[in-house]
Amino acid sequence: MNKILLLFAFFIILSSGCKDSSALSIGLVENIDEFNEAVSAAEPGDVITLANGIWNNAELKFYANGTEEKPIKLTVETKGKVTLEEESNLRIAGSYLIVEGLVFRNGNTPTGEVISFKKDSKTLCNNCRVTECVIDNYNPSERHESDYWVGMYGKNNRFDHNYLVGKRNRGVTMAVRLNNEESLENHHRIDHNHFGYRPLLGSNGGETLRIGTSHHSLKNSNTIVEDNYFEMCSGELEIISSKSCQNTFRNNTFYECKGTLTMRHGNETIVENNYLFGNGKANTGGIRIINETQTVNNNYCEGLTGYRFRSALTIMNGVPNSPINRYFQVIDSKASNNLIVNCDNVQFCAGSDSERSAVPVNTEMKNNIIYNTEKDEIFTVYDDISGISFEGNILSPNIELPTNKGANVSTGFEKKELVFNRVDGLLRPEGFDQVGPNSDKERPSGKNTGVDWYPKIDYTINFNVGNEIAVAPGENTILEAALKSKSGDVLVLEAGGKYHQSKSVDVPHTLSLKARGEKPTITFERSSLFNIENGGSLSLEGIIVSGEKCDDYAGNSVVRTSRYSMIDNYKFLAKDCDFVDLDVNHSFNVLRVYKNTFADSIALVNCNFNNISGHVLNMNKETDDIGIYNSENVVVEKCSFKNIGGVAINLYRGGRDESTFGPILKLNETSFDNVGHDKRNKEKSAVSLHGVQVANMNNLTISNSKKMDLHLVVGEPVIRVQNTTFENSEGLTSNSDAFEKNNVKTISTKK
Ligand code: CA
Repeated sequence: MNKILLLFAFFIILSSGCKDSSALSIGLVENIDEFNEAVSAAEPGDVITLANGIWNNAELKFYANGTEEKPIKLTVETKGKVTLEEESNLRIAGSYLIVEGLVFRNGNTPTGEVISFKKDSKTLCNNCRVTECVIDNYNPSERHESDYWVGMYGKNNRFDHNYLVGKRNRGVTMAVRLNNEESLENHHRIDHNHFGYRPLLGSNGGETLRIGTSHHSLKNSNTIVEDNYFEMCSGELEIISSKSCQNTFRNNTFYECKGTLTMRHGNETIVENNYLFGNGKANTGGIRIINETQTVNNNYCEGLTGYRFRSALTIMNGVPNSPINRYFQVIDSKASNNLIVNCDNVQFCAGSDSERSAVPVNTEMKNNIIYNTEKDEIFTVYDDISGISFEGNILSPNIELPTNKGANVSTGFEKKELVFNRVDGLLRPEGFDQVGPNSDKERPSGKNTGVDWYPKIDYTINFNVGNEIAVAPGENTILEAALKSKSGDVLVLEAGGKYHQSKSVDVPHTLSLKARGEKPTITFERSSLFNIENGGSLSLEGIIVSGEKCDDYAGNSVVRTSRYSMIDNYKFLAKDCDFVDLDVNHSFNVLRVYKNTFADSIALVNCNFNNISGHVLNMNKETDDIGIYNSENVVVEKCSFKNIGGVAINLYRGGRDESTFGPILKLNETSFDNVGHDKRNKEKSAVSLHGVQVANMNNLTISNSKKMDLHLVVGEPVIRVQNTTFENSEGLTSNSDAFEKNNVKTISTKK
């Protein structure tokens, strides 16, 4: 009834042409038809207000023209009480429009963009503003189905005070598009946004912000990105990919982002007064310079551990006469007054190879402070750095000078003890106020960016943070407890208890199983004991899993991932566990993974694997050779593999893409005995690593087993094999000798 009255009043007002401020609430619309009518009738100064509630499958097409003095506004009745769900999206086109307070969640866009600043390729948005909107975990179920959350077209648009968190599928979170004349020299402003957690994609296409594409990269964009907070934006190597000219990035905070601000294409970029905090987390990166006339001044980098393309500061090599989509030479660029504290790497001529042979020229590095008393080798020089002039840079006394093809760069650096104080969260050296950020502006954080009426969401995966649930021995008691559990809970099994599962246990959230004292035993019947479904992660501690009661079929497994695409990354940990007698039939695996699933981490610590007909970790389901793979971090420590028909560890990443960090393997203090001899083992290996980016292998004994095979593909992989003995085994094979081998022995005791 109210609705009809309101609508009636709305039309009366419209027809009478009354436009005073009392019209504000008149624009309340309660469904898409009312919204469409309000939009088609909208005139400058109007406000259209979405009524509180859930708007399912609402495709909002906000096409109108306001004026500079009287924009047309789309807002919500109460911020936080209007949510757009299922297959909803927003397109805006016209001019002087404001959109405020929309929340997208529990679904995904039916089109290529959640918020699009265009109606179609010809009808764009100019002088529009999107503010205080939220896009929260609004993803399709397929992780490699691509979309953008925000596509910015036209000119003079502003995107500010928005909160974007939990993008998990392929496709940049926000793209500024330059693909038509009307979007060049756009002077957009992207400010005060909170770009929240973006987990590893495990593929190219996980950027948080991209401005332009290589095709239009020599055109000016003139986009300003300032006062934003980038929090754990770790989709891939590039947090920001600037691919056009004359963009400015200033006063942004990057918090624990595993990637870099990359000047990927385009010239005349300004990067100044940004704050990058790595907190010592792996692969946290800094600023990467490519192309011409780039200016990198007064930035603050602390605790960044990344190397190669994700060093605290990277100056790349280019390709002579580069095609538009490759790497242009660094020319006429400057890095000055940057404060780089407790970071692990600064690299020059990175990417140098037979193709990228154009070294930086006419480039200067002046008055920077690089201080890290814990690490002496900060600099890596891959090629001739005579085109970079160094002047007035200060290093902590321990840091070794960069070398120029063996010759020291003796001027340009001074080693000096400095006294640092923590001031307003930054480590500042006494007497050098001009180095590091010199802006009076407030440093962006989770508090002064985004919106204050929507909860900040922690999407990181954490075990053992919930309640403990005691599980009595018996049949299906684990399943019953799992069904009662919440994310983070721990199922505690009885010491020495006998557990049997005649049903599989679905794991839809973060779940731990733990026992104290004598290890309990779990037997099971179905083709899998645990199914990590989308959103699930599993930790097992102090448990024996036996396959002796499994049905006599081929292809059983203790743990399997979803058979379908998993948009959420998962973790699987096993500590102090025994996996035994998984051999009722062939191809019995410990972990079975499927294509389009991605493990953030897998850790096997102090576990025994004995009598297994299939594989233990066979992470090789991404076979398209486009740089996609099944697991980022794999840790195997203090384990014993004995009588394993298939591979103990197989990690596969094919293709030549350089935008990811993994797979990363740590394999330590582990023995292999009689591994890999089953005729179905296609790898014909006990351990097979293909395209792995980092592998640290130490203290291994490999007896009576198939080979350990290393296939180095792309990205200067860091592979170390140390203190390893092959006994009556096929030994170590590799396609390249570009890896470190130290104290690796081959012994044959057989005749
Ligand atoms: Ca990329």
